[in-house]
Amino acid sequence: MKEFIKSFPKVELHTHLNGGIREETLNKWHKNKEVTKYIDSFLSPKTNSQKAMENCFKSFDLIYEATTTLERIKQLTKEVLEDYDNENCIIVEIRTSPRKLEGHSILDYYNTVIESFQEYLNNRNKNTPFYPYLLFSINRSKLEIGKETIDIANELRKQNNFVKGIELSGNPYKGDINKIIELMNYSKLLNMPFTMHIAEKIDDNEMIKLIECKPSRMGHGTYVNNEGIDLMNKYNIDCEICLTSNMVSRSIDNYNNHPILKNKNYKGKLFFCCDDRGLFRTCLTNELLYAIDNYYNNLSEIEQKNLIKKLCLDGINASFLEENIKNELKEYVEKINI
Ligand code: 5GP
Repeated sequence: MKEFIKSFPKVELHTHLNGGIREETLNKWHKNKEVTKYIDSFLSPKTNSQKAMENCFKSFDLIYEATTTLERIKQLTKEVLEDYDNENCIIVEIRTSPRKLEGHSILDYYNTVIESFQEYLNNRNKNTPFYPYLLFSINRSKLEIGKETIDIANELRKQNNFVKGIELSGNPYKGDINKIIELMNYSKLLNMPFTMHIAEKIDDNEMIKLIECKPSRMGHGTYVNNEGIDLMNKYNIDCEICLTSNMVSRSIDNYNNHPILKNKNYKGKLFFCCDDRGLFRTCLTNELLYAIDNYYNNLSEIEQKNLIKKLCLDGINASFLEENIKNELKEYVEKINI
């Protein structure tokens, strides 16, 4: 099954650029040449969910100490694209938060990522379809630059084909809920598609308010309750599931225990994703394999393969790509005989 999943076209709908850094690249660029060993020493010890989540954010700060120049951002972006391309992903929705690198603006950061996308595609030798695109992140710890980020996304999407929307992420224990809602409403006003990390902590009140923003999709949803599930069904909000990430942040205690996957009332689509491919040392092939092994192990081999195909088609439909590209990709996948 692993070989089948690896070679089959796949859609990644939830992956963060800096979290995608390769282990060897992080060690090469960081002043501590064994920084990944250091991260291993504190990431996901047996601790509570809030502490484990804080440890994830401590790791992101260490990554930021390494990805400090535009040259490195360019190289990081190229490597992340290459890693997804090598495992036969056909769509990769990459999110990244605004950065002000020394001597540079947020716009410089985003333009560098976009340039790297273009260069990667220009130099690509494969003839299979490959459509990476970008969401700009509203970081809960930096809401004050949220509006500027949305404005930059709105300008850049007119200039190139890579910028498609907005997402909300960052430390779930930070950020004023009213300010978040205001920013999501601003995205809506501009007709900008958006997706949001929701229910990564126990806070039913916040969860309901965030779902009421009606994002296209919800990331994680590990602490969503029945009322939240009902609202997701009502508003057609699908869920991006990141099993390995949830294990590391201790918001699930076992790969087979994701509340949305276990909830029989949930009617939306499911998208299995990596979240932070490099930091969590995973890949989309593995995430799909975990899904099959833990939630669909009662199916026959042929049914499991058809499920992988269906997940790919669902992912194409839920992506923020243009309809003509979605149709082209669906035709390409439909034609593959299992
Ligand atoms: P970047 O946006 O800098 O390219 O990627 C790393 C950032 O993505 C982190 O600093 C964090 O704000 C966000 N991020 C990555 N993984 C998670 C996650 O599991 N939950 C949340 N809420 N944010 C995340």
